[in-house]
Amino acid sequence: MSDLPSRPRILLRQLHRVMAGPGRAEERLQGVVRLIAQNMVAEVCSVYLVRAGEILELFATEGLNPQAVHQTRLRFGEGLVGLVAQRGLPLRIQEAPKHPRFAYRAETGEEPYHSFLGVPIIRHGRVIGVLVVQNVKPREYTDEEEEALQTIAMVLAELIGSGELVAPEEIAEVAGPAGLPLTLDGEAMAAGLAAGRAVLHEGAIEVTRYVAEDVEQERKRLDEALAALREEIDRMLASPEMGAGGEHREVLEAYRMFAQDRGWRDRILHAIDSGLTAEAAVERVAQDNRRRMSATEDPYLRARLHDLEDLSRRLLRVLAGQPRAPRLEEDSILVARNLGPAELLDYDLTRLKGVVLEEGAPTAHVAILARAMGIPLVGRVEGAREHVEPGDLVIVDAENAHVLVRPAEEVRETYERAIAARARELESFFAERDLPSITRDGVEITLMMNAGLVNDTALLERTGAAGIGLFRTEFQFMVRSTLPRLDAQRELYARVLETAGERPVYFRTLDIGGDKVVPFLPHEREANPAMGWRAIRIALDRPVLLRYQLRALMQASAGRALRVMFPMVATVAEFRAARAIVEKEQRRFERLGIAGPERVEVGVMVEVPSLAFELRELLHEADFLSVGTNDLVQFFFAVDRTNPKLTRRYDPLSPALLRFIRRLVVTADQIGVPLTVCGEMAGRPLDALALLALGVRRLSMSPSAIGPARRMVRSIDLPRVENFILQLIDSGEREMRSTLRNFARDHGIAIGSGADFI
Ligand code: PEP
Ligand code: MG
Repeated sequence: MSDLPSRPRILLRQLHRVMAGPGRAEERLQGVVRLIAQNMVAEVCSVYLVRAGEILELFATEGLNPQAVHQTRLRFGEGLVGLVAQRGLPLRIQEAPKHPRFAYRAETGEEPYHSFLGVPIIRHGRVIGVLVVQNVKPREYTDEEEEALQTIAMVLAELIGSGELVAPEEIAEVAGPAGLPLTLDGEAMAAGLAAGRAVLHEGAIEVTRYVAEDVEQERKRLDEALAALREEIDRMLASPEMGAGGEHREVLEAYRMFAQDRGWRDRILHAIDSGLTAEAAVERVAQDNRRRMSATEDPYLRARLHDLEDLSRRLLRVLAGQPRAPRLEEDSILVARNLGPAELLDYDLTRLKGVVLEEGAPTAHVAILARAMGIPLVGRVEGAREHVEPGDLVIVDAENAHVLVRPAEEVRETYERAIAARARELESFFAERDLPSITRDGVEITLMMNAGLVNDTALLERTGAAGIGLFRTEFQFMVRSTLPRLDAQRELYARVLETAGERPVYFRTLDIGGDKVVPFLPHEREANPAMGWRAIRIALDRPVLLRYQLRALMQASAGRALRVMFPMVATVAEFRAARAIVEKEQRRFERLGIAGPERVEVGVMVEVPSLAFELRELLHEADFLSVGTNDLVQFFFAVDRTNPKLTRRYDPLSPALLRFIRRLVVTADQIGVPLTVCGEMAGRPLDALALLALGVRRLSMSPSAIGPARRMVRSIDLPRVENFILQLIDSGEREMRSTLRNFARDHGIAIGSGADFI
């Protein structure tokens, strides 16, 4: 079927002829719109191009009033054409004049036209114009027509960019004012602070040849390039720094699967059959991908589409015979639209200090890797590539979720001081890692760390944490595209336990669902995912998943204690049902004579307030409690923990929440059940101080918070702190934070200088 001349293929050939033909640039552009109109059986075909100031100007038209050329202008976002440019997405409408964004321009004489199909003309990821066809009769354009128009727009983009269709001086510089300091906001996806010189990730390889001379030859080139791509990934997997396991490996393995995906190859072949070269076909499918990516909010699907984007770029490199990532100078900051996990690993990570992405998601592989490697990453930074020039000084401030571009001298110095102080501080905490975490009056506080990646466990040594108070097992499931098999799960847990040695590890069973999407469960959009089908609710409805995980945990902890807890439990009945599954597994081990744990402690996370009203029953059955303040605060104050507008609205240091936690602590103490606090609150010195005053003696926090927490513990006189804070709570004082901060300062309590309430 590849040698049947399809309609787009014929059109591409004809376009090629017009473009190579005689005449001035503008005349050729006019010839192009005429051809498209004929081919698509449309009464109108127009090209709008971007002028400075994000103005779209009509440059050529077949069908609209020719006088309107260079007269009709629209702003980005204005009218349907402006909407296409603003969103960078195609738009098809049967009844254009009825669309709320329709903007009528008398000079074009466009009243009689009903249907509208517009696609953006994109070059190097930026919209440089819009290509439109219109029909008199209301009609529905087909997917094929939209695709064909996109293919044409892509070819046009290159010709316009290279000056073949429009005089180069006519085209706008869309980039913003360079040279001035600028602060761009985004979303922190991997913590930390970094400064360095910008390196723009050359995502897109320039495609220079679009129209295929010989379709068979292009098909062959594609298959050869795909084979080379797979080999390249295999080589990366075999490289010594990949090691035997860990997340990098899992990510790349998932990645290799995509490279072998037949659907992807077929789609590219289909585009080749429509008359494109192999490169252009890869780019064409990638454009489709980008469109799907911008249309979906499903975090898992987005992450996978990003991987495909990464692969497309890599495939284009192979086709163009170009090397992989450029060499980095010392202290580089990588700026990219998006970055695939393998693309990140291509760079010299000893020189890469930070990453800025225009897109990205906290659950994307690249973010998971950046966190595992301690590279600060700020994502969702709109227009980053537009505003940053290579070599610009860039500060990645993942503490405040922004990026400072070309900062003024004083700002730069302040940050450099902060970065240096941080490094010194880290060293000083490291030096204190063996000091006991005992208050001045001799009360021992257990400081543990939260973890989720195998790499994290190495931090037990560096921080001197007493154990892992919360191991988030879902991470392993989120970076993979298939359900981790029993042996893969067991291996991971065994490695964690082995690194932990004598120190206890509290495994939390899968906390999936909500926004933590995994590929192997049907994902239905929920109106309130945080309160939806997640965590223990899924586990009880799909007990096989939980049973397998428990089996892996039990096998991994053969001969030692297993500590396991359940997330998002809302009733004692749920806890009982989950515990029964544990017991059933234990009996299975006994029956089959398999070596299992020497004992099993079964605990529960307190994240849903309802549990506090069945506390006594619960405490008679649970071996330990772990208070997850992140979710607890969310449900206690009814405040979405992911909504940036609400982040600072309800301070956990409030009489209401502290009274609630106190009630948990007192009852747990009475019944003699250990209680740990493991949410973010536990890792903020001032908040932790309040928790200690409530009687909490066990805290689990992110590894970087251990050093500051130890220093705080060692600087306090507990009875004095208790006295002050309990009285403060009883007084009903609303503004507890500043009062408490002043108290800490006055009493020489080490609360650090970092952000204490994010
Ligand atoms: C919590 O909710 O406080 C918690 C520790 O769990 P996560 O942040 O993983 O939901
Ligand atoms: Mg939680």
